[in-house]
Amino acid sequence: MALADHPRIPLTFGPSPLHPLTRLTEHLGGARVWAKREDCNSGLAFGGNKVRKLEYLAADAIATGCDTLVSIGGVQSNHTRSVAAVAARLGLKCVLVQESWVDWPDSVYDKVGNVQLSRLLGATSRFVTAGFGIGIKESYQQVLTEIDLAGGKPYPIPAGASDHPLGGLGFARWAAELVEQERAADIRFDTIVVASATGSTQAGMLAGFAALGERRRVIGVDTSAKPAETRAAVQRIAHRTAALLETELTDEVILDERYHAGAYGVPDEETLSAMRLAARTEALITDPVYEGKSMAALIDLVSTGEIPSTDTVLYTHLGGQPAINGYSAVI
Ligand code: PLP
Repeated sequence: MALADHPRIPLTFGPSPLHPLTRLTEHLGGARVWAKREDCNSGLAFGGNKVRKLEYLAADAIATGCDTLVSIGGVQSNHTRSVAAVAARLGLKCVLVQESWVDWPDSVYDKVGNVQLSRLLGATSRFVTAGFGIGIKESYQQVLTEIDLAGGKPYPIPAGASDHPLGGLGFARWAAELVEQERAADIRFDTIVVASATGSTQAGMLAGFAALGERRRVIGVDTSAKPAETRAAVQRIAHRTAALLETELTDEVILDERYHAGAYGVPDEETLSAMRLAARTEALITDPVYEGKSMAALIDLVSTGEIPSTDTVLYTHLGGQPAINGYSAVI
């Protein structure tokens, strides 16, 4: 089925902003750098990449008569906050399993930022002890069973809305949107840099470009510190999404493993200095979990010339700023 025929509930403002990062470009002295801003893509609780993905999952939830969105993620998960936001906007209930993915010393880590916003949005958060992973967990199954037994109809959304049949569609649509914006601005991005963790953002882009017959070098930046799992997820979801769009993948999965700082959710000095540089040249706010790491990659790849200076490169900002409230110890 063509992308346009897949049911979707619009939850974004429309095409996300695309603009040049002129001061950062000048500072790095290499390829021209632009940004496409999923952090300002929606009015729903600070937006972000998950809102795009959830446009398709929410349509399915409503079509199948579900009354409760159920999802899972770390305590500072942007994804679970977005599920809470979409549930609130659509008048659905929301139950979230919040796992202790990150061992972080900040005393307010599990009280502020995303988890605080989810509470404000009316979601119920259940805290459990478990490490990073995108598999189906017992705690999550338990919530689904409880809602069933109480006569509700849950709609299960896996971590990052990724390992779901419709998980890649949001960023396949992003690829089509970008190609239109490129035409309007008379520009073409040779390289796209994007943070990757649960995989469907990068995977959706790859499937979307394939469906359009467009070729772009998409560099995924691993933020999970489990790159083998992330690569496998991107591959699996990209193939699944391509099949859904009745096309085949044309480009290999590129995942750069050099910038994850050794642990999911933990920044190193390179992450923090990338966050400072983006903030101090462009007032571009990134977080220490995802975008600070993809920004560190962009800065390194452009300033060393690994991305050639003749290129025009797109930094994909996927959101995530609320999490910085949990990192006052280092920011
Ligand atoms: N950036 C932000 C702000 C996120 O919340 C996420 C979610 O995991 C990512 C990047 C990575 O996206 P994905 O999980 O689709 O690979």
